[in-house]
Amino acid sequence: MAKQAKGKGKKSGVKKVGPLPVHPRRLVSTKNTSLPISVFDNVMKQVDEACVQLKLDPNLQEFLKMPRRSSIAYLPVQMDDGSHRMFPAYRVQHSIARGPAKGGIRYHPGVTLDEVQALASWMTFKSAVVNIPFGGGKGGIQCDPTKLSRGELERLTRRYVADLMNVFGPELDVPAPDVGTGPQVMAWFMDTYSMREGHPSPAVVTGKPTSMGGSLGRTEATGRGVMISTREAAKHLGLDLATATASVQGFGNVGSISARLLHELGVKFTHVSDVTGAVYNPDGIDIDGLSEYVTRTGSVLGYQGTTQIKPEEVLTAKVDILIPAALESVITDKNARRIKCKIIAEGANGPTTPGADKILNKKGIMVIPDILCNAGGVTVSYFEWVQNRIGYFWSEDEVNRRLEEKMVAAFGDVLAMSLEHEVSMRIAAFMVAIERLIEVVQLRGIYG
Ligand code: NAD
Repeated sequence: MAKQAKGKGKKSGVKKVGPLPVHPRRLVSTKNTSLPISVFDNVMKQVDEACVQLKLDPNLQEFLKMPRRSSIAYLPVQMDDGSHRMFPAYRVQHSIARGPAKGGIRYHPGVTLDEVQALASWMTFKSAVVNIPFGGGKGGIQCDPTKLSRGELERLTRRYVADLMNVFGPELDVPAPDVGTGPQVMAWFMDTYSMREGHPSPAVVTGKPTSMGGSLGRTEATGRGVMISTREAAKHLGLDLATATASVQGFGNVGSISARLLHELGVKFTHVSDVTGAVYNPDGIDIDGLSEYVTRTGSVLGYQGTTQIKPEEVLTAKVDILIPAALESVITDKNARRIKCKIIAEGANGPTTPGADKILNKKGIMVIPDILCNAGGVTVSYFEWVQNRIGYFWSEDEVNRRLEEKMVAAFGDVLAMSLEHEVSMRIAAFMVAIERLIEVVQLRGIYG
């Protein structure tokens, strides 16, 4: 395959450009990106299934998938050594039907337009499932942020905002951090946008430092949402969390915080892994102690009272709750049969493949899908935007109380849809999101 492509390129010198892509699946294929191949195809399979359940008009189905607008820019940046480099950069608004596009900006060498389009569509469904007035967006710059100096990162970020100034705005498109970006990049983003507008405009971006308009509770929000949805699932299944056991893959922001909050409800974590390996303690791991240990050493390995196990065992452990909170496509048709838990709480985006989903459904395992389970983050991003617009800031308790309300309502809506149509929680979540989206699309109509 690679050989053939090479030969072709040599012969013609110029890549042939075919007709414009008409099918969104091809348009947003995730090949050669920082995502594993087919994550977007996986999402679209689920969208298709939900549309069939909803008996949706095929015209609307196509409308649902295509991004509203994709912008490309090539950013010239002066490097520290005086040379100039061009960085490809993207911003995609998948949908603004329910409100401004919302979604992170990724700095990664594998970023492509296709990937950004895929991730933007995911955000549309996630925002709709928790019923916040946002659409879906995503952005990215093809770069390796670990190899750029602070000055280079700042100039790259400011140039990105300046070049794509017209597509952003508190009412139009509100970015946030993603892989390779964080509060500092958001601060530069806000400053550049504000300078060009001529006044402070904090609501143009979320995930800012709290000293300049970021929301309290944002760092914990995704893990807190995972805890809330897991607690609701346990309630539905009659599982007592005070005696429940759990395992977590990934011990970063989402994994460690959801583990800590569930641990506070009595859940005993016996298996934990991160990129360095996996550990086990049948009597339960002290999650606070492990968090401090990981901060100090950078690894879960060697934590007191634990023994090292194979990373795969974290997924197949005999526990009540499994939280994949690291990577995409880790639960597949190869290992799904060996999974023994009662609840899978998808902290990560896309950890389960459609093949695995079928097996898990047959086994009667309740999968809380990513677009519901990890939506606490985008929900508190919405709260940040609201606080910026009203110019009044809530206490952390207030943020957590409102997050609790949103997550419990969303979980209830998805569960009710799942029971009514006898479909998995994942398909039900897409159905809830698509119904909300389509209602607005039909009310607004198509202009022109
Ligand atoms: P993070 O970088 O803080 O943590 C990632 C963790 O995964 C680290 O502990 C890392 O060691 C571990 N990891 C990496 N490769 C691994 C492997 N092969 N096996 C086991 N562990 C591995 O990232 P995060 O913010 O916690 O995000 C985790 C997942 O949650 C991602 O899929 C992300 O897209 C998703 N997510 C995050 C948020 C958020 O607000 N942070 C919101 C929604 C979804």
